[in-house]
Amino acid sequence: MKLSHRITHITTGGSDGWEVYIRGRRMAAAGTSVTELTIGEHDVRTDPSILKAMYDAAAGGHTGYAMIPGTDALRDAVAARVSARTGVPTTRDNVLITAGGQAALFAAHHAVCDEGDAALFIDPYYATYPGTIRAIGARAVPVPAAPDTGFQPRAADLAQAAEGATSLLINSPNNPTGAIYSADTMAGIAGVCRDHDLWLISDEVYDTQIWDGAHMSPRALPDMAARTLVVGSLSKSHAMTGSRCGWIVGPEPAIEHMINLSTCTNYGVSGFIQDAGLFALEQGTGLEEQIAEPFRRRRDLALATLARQNLVGYVPPQGAMYLMLDIRATGLSGQAFANALLDEHRIAVMPGESFGDAAAGFVRVAMTVADDRFVAALETLCDFAEKKARA
Ligand code: PLP
Repeated sequence: MKLSHRITHITTGGSDGWEVYIRGRRMAAAGTSVTELTIGEHDVRTDPSILKAMYDAAAGGHTGYAMIPGTDALRDAVAARVSARTGVPTTRDNVLITAGGQAALFAAHHAVCDEGDAALFIDPYYATYPGTIRAIGARAVPVPAAPDTGFQPRAADLAQAAEGATSLLINSPNNPTGAIYSADTMAGIAGVCRDHDLWLISDEVYDTQIWDGAHMSPRALPDMAARTLVVGSLSKSHAMTGSRCGWIVGPEPAIEHMINLSTCTNYGVSGFIQDAGLFALEQGTGLEEQIAEPFRRRRDLALATLARQNLVGYVPPQGAMYLMLDIRATGLSGQAFANALLDEHRIAVMPGESFGDAAAGFVRVAMTVADDRFVAALETLCDFAEKKARA
């Protein structure tokens, strides 16, 4: 039987860029000690206090169907958090609770793009972006952001791509590059959205992981609240990746329609997960800082380690949990380098090519193992790069 074009074209065939990760996982499962620096998963689990809140909610009976837009209490807590951080008045009617940031990305594109519409996103990009756009039948159009601009997208490039497009997806702090978009970059983005009547989908799931500068939500810029959908999540801020709890913040009419989508897809998020999420948010910034701290520390350790050599290039990450390393001096592609590093040293990193053409010749290193193991892996990676460059 024929399947729809929409579903068979979520991936475009060929390499999906995850081979090194999968090979590393298989080697580890077969008993080989592999240093896995691939995916964005914390090396701590969800805090026991959050798990207790989850258990108490479930034991207390919150195991039936939950409110589809989210519980009033959680929507209020998200609205209060967003109002406090951005200064934009936000109420529960601007908030839809979703099964993680990923479901929010899907719903946001579904809400604003029709079949065949051009949906822009910045390259390098989080690996699910083009598939998410294709999954709703739109056309995924990358706009490159080059290493020499610190991976900040340029307004002129965006304006050129924006002709006839419907939406623009941005992500700051950024995965995979660690860039935090500057006030100028954000002003440029907002200007292009206003001039070309684009929806802006702003993925802010790393907004608690800031190492340099400040995070700015473009929803707070003049005339942007009416055209911006913000994607948030507890996955990274509260080490709750498996709980699948996130949100979209946006104009009320858009949220109302996305509630209908949620009714037809997940039928909401489990009540006990939402209660645990509410508990997590109620802990305030202390818990968020505690969860972010290891990445800040490892980022500093990484910069000190990388400063001791001059072959592997890098743009110092300003936020998030990754390093983008420029290994072009080795003459290898990111893919070839990552495969060889795994084979020869049992260190798994992601090829830059997995995150788009603009990241070719880079590898992404997740800062997600204990400090000493992390530094040792980074030193080995640099020595390995030197060896390959000389070969
Ligand atoms: N957006 C970005 C940039 C990410 O890196 C991730 C996960 O790694 C997500 C969204 C999705 O996160 P979740 O669905 O776990 O909230």
